[in-house]
Amino acid sequence: MKTLRIKLGNNSDLRLPASILRKGGLVAFPTETVYGLGANALDENAVKKIFEAKGRPSDNPLIVHVSDKEELFALVSKVPEKAQKLMDKFWPGPLTLVLNKSKSVPRAVTAGQETVAIRMPNNKIALELIKQSGIPVAAPSANVSTRPSPTEAKHVLEDLDGKIDAIIDGGRTDIGLESTVIDLTSETPTILRPGKITKEELEKVIGKIETKAKAGKVAKAPGMKYKHYSPKAKVILVTKKEIPSLKRKLGTKKIGIILKEGTFEEFAKSLFSKFREMDKKGIEVILVEKIKEKGLGVAIMNRLKKAAGEI
Ligand code: AMP
Ligand code: MG
Repeated sequence: MKTLRIKLGNNSDLRLPASILRKGGLVAFPTETVYGLGANALDENAVKKIFEAKGRPSDNPLIVHVSDKEELFALVSKVPEKAQKLMDKFWPGPLTLVLNKSKSVPRAVTAGQETVAIRMPNNKIALELIKQSGIPVAAPSANVSTRPSPTEAKHVLEDLDGKIDAIIDGGRTDIGLESTVIDLTSETPTILRPGKITKEELEKVIGKIETKAKAGKVAKAPGMKYKHYSPKAKVILVTKKEIPSLKRKLGTKKIGIILKEGTFEEFAKSLFSKFREMDKKGIEVILVEKIKEKGLGVAIMNRLKKAAGEI
């Protein structure tokens, strides 16, 4: 199939990609976190195409994207008070809520689980696309499974050109890391995947929260069970001091170095794209500077440790 490239001018017309979604096709689109690969969340066949295009294991559930808080009510069986508080405070934004699903959500979306993950993205194109399509949109990151998430349209095309109906180019994504995922179905709310919105920020709104790092038999949070976010090169996390001796040890290997320059926000924004650039150059080992696990540093280190195979 030929992948239609949609570049938006000032008067953004999203009628075509919206109709592709409605008819069961796949459309990649920008969000504020990373690019998503969207399909009609209520159409089981459309959802299955996402798994095929990405080569994603079928027990790895998808996030359903909505353009309005009200849309959540049809997708879940009940909205706990804490969920309402989080939506009021953080939506639209990089926070995904895991809740008990309603009957209308197909099992392909939730990987057979009784829970569904939902988010309202904070990106004009994403919101308008979902709104115009008139349906909830299931959308995992628009990369081939295990590859780093795409933060630019060209990354999506590297992985999925010819396998999806269309891509909307909205430039570089703002945050560059996937959303925070919080499970509100357990007694104490549990962070399944750290992201831009931190545990401390969430606790200010709903009180005590746990963080879970272990994967269950069915992937509660896909990122937990599968190798993820990884470049082809081997990734080693280092302190700046260790770099010279490691370089000597690695001898003739092609080495790439990623240092934390600037803020955590800047580091997060460019990390996945640096991984991809280094893969293209045939780099064999990437040395990445470890950072403090504080604030956004928790999410960055989570992705780095996964890329390094440490968790
Ligand atoms: P991706 O969009 O590729 O980042 O992957 C989807 C993410 O959605 C995973 O990392 C999970 O954390 C999350 N997710 C989706 N559905 C569920 C669910 N029912 N329970 C828990 N986590 C989910
Ligand atoms: Mg992903």
